[in-house]
Amino acid sequence: MDGLEQLQKYIDESGKIVFFGGAGVSTESGIPDFRSVDGLYHQTYDYPPETIISHDFFMSNPEEFYRFYRQKMLFRDAKPNAAHKKLAELEQVGKLTAVVTQNIDGLHQMAGSRRVYELHGSVHRNYCQKCGKSYPVERIVNTEGIPRCDDCGGIIKPDVVLYGECLDSEVMEGAIKAISQADLLIIGGTSLAVYPAAGLIRYCPGKIILINREPTPMDGRADLVIKGNIGEVLGAVQAAQ
Ligand code: NAD
Repeated sequence: MDGLEQLQKYIDESGKIVFFGGAGVSTESGIPDFRSVDGLYHQTYDYPPETIISHDFFMSNPEEFYRFYRQKMLFRDAKPNAAHKKLAELEQVGKLTAVVTQNIDGLHQMAGSRRVYELHGSVHRNYCQKCGKSYPVERIVNTEGIPRCDDCGGIIKPDVVLYGECLDSEVMEGAIKAISQADLLIIGGTSLAVYPAAGLIRYCPGKIILINREPTPMDGRADLVIKGNIGEVLGAVQAAQ
């Protein structure tokens, strides 16, 4: 694959790598992305996915929200792929300082990554909207209809940033700090279409590498663009020499 040697060279020369990724990082784990031809946005529902996974829709129609959410956004059997594993290894050998992800699937942590900024939250955290009691994802998976709090009967909401909601400011600040100190930013598996997340890459003072199946609006800004599957590409990298 073109660019692999150059990628390895950049990684060998860097000591503060940050990875910034999106849904494409998990497609090789069997979780569909949003915008590829076979992605979530191209499947048919009564409402478009952007409508269903919005704050207003959750508040006005939680039952329909949860029907879609359980069917299309929870992938309990998904396992980390070679990309998640290599990023965890790069952190372990002291070369990677943080993963910044738009994903909500928790696969980076499952692979062993420790510093993970989840810009859009996680399906693994769920809270009662009324009293704040927290619930694991199993609570959502193992119930039907609208999941309610054992203590107060409030509606449980996933800690996932829905359309119309703000990103967590602490997570955002942590991600900006990590990126602004990076000597190499590896971006992968993201269409770079969702803001403000996509805007974060402008904070990088170092080199930028883009690994994606399709072109992105930032290809011109990158020092190296590799077209391919991120699991295959990162899987071929040597973390330590
Ligand atoms: P996106 O769907 O807009 O774009 C995915 C990009 O990844 C596309 O450009 C596609 O060509 C590329 N891609 C797909 N598989 C790839 C692979 N194996 N290797 C390399 N490139 C690959 O995703 P986005 O930019 O992350 O934005 C969508 C939003 O959807 C995010 O906010 C995210 O929170 C959410 N989302 C999350 C998950 C998840 O948690 N796994 C899944 C779907 C959507």
